[in-house]
Amino acid sequence: MTPVNDSSNWLQSLPRPGAEAHKHVRGRLGVVSGGPLSTGAARLSARAGLRIGAGLVKVFCPPDAVGVLAPALEAVMLASFSSADQLASLAQPMDAVVIGPAAGLTEATAANVAALGRTGAALVIDADALTLFKDRPSDLFACLDRDDVLTPHEGEFERLFPGLLAQGRDVAATEAAARAGAVVVLKGFETVVAAPDGRRVVNGNGSPWLATAGSGDVLAGMIGGLLAQHMDSFDAACAAVWMHSDAANRFGPGLIAEDLPELIPAVLVDLY
Ligand code: AMP
Ligand code: MG
Repeated sequence: MTPVNDSSNWLQSLPRPGAEAHKHVRGRLGVVSGGPLSTGAARLSARAGLRIGAGLVKVFCPPDAVGVLAPALEAVMLASFSSADQLASLAQPMDAVVIGPAAGLTEATAANVAALGRTGAALVIDADALTLFKDRPSDLFACLDRDDVLTPHEGEFERLFPGLLAQGRDVAATEAAARAGAVVVLKGFETVVAAPDGRRVVNGNGSPWLATAGSGDVLAGMIGGLLAQHMDSFDAACAAVWMHSDAANRFGPGLIAEDLPELIPAVLVDLY
């Protein structure tokens, strides 16, 4: 039986800032935004990354999205890029980068994923950055290493790993992690987290209140924020999945994605 994702499994690995910490030491997270009509997802990820403890979070956006994002960000920093190479140099100093939420199903997004794969940053790959590789998953896997995390819901999973779900979600997630060479978070009711080395847990505290637009973007930012703090990627995925559900369970009916980052401090206070 697959073990349950219990907070005791990763509690000791949660990052704790030392007395002499400063924002760069606490971890730098980059989040790639879509164009001017698609910036909300990056804002949700970025805010979740900050709330979960990354010291510095920067959104990278196409030039035409600057006018939308600049007035909507406070603690989150902003930089624009016009090419994959430019994105890679902006991402170079980052400890982790989230790409995919509302990124756009374009060749430019594919080039951005490949460029980020050549930086030292740990990657969270979600949403469009998964779907656009549906006919060529090996091109995506070639960009990844074991520090990276894929966060597909079932639809995205089926596109990247056609037919695997027929073996059951647990087995499918483990096989997917082995093929991808990265951690796979198969989201949904009872989210499964699997690592390429065979570690696997199933989330037991899931909340149906999470079935709301944008909640996956918050999860991607939470995982990214923990990766930026150099948490092991399997532990980071397990911790973020558990805390995301705990936050939703605390709030209950009426939850929208914007509420989730604001609930993280209460979740953390009870864990530390
Ligand atoms: P996304 O589909 O990318 O927006 O992600 C949705 C998020 O909500 C994921 O973290 C899912 O695991 C979670 N979620 C959606 N529906 C449920 C459900 N019925 N029970 C538990 N978690 C859910
Ligand atoms: Mg999503």
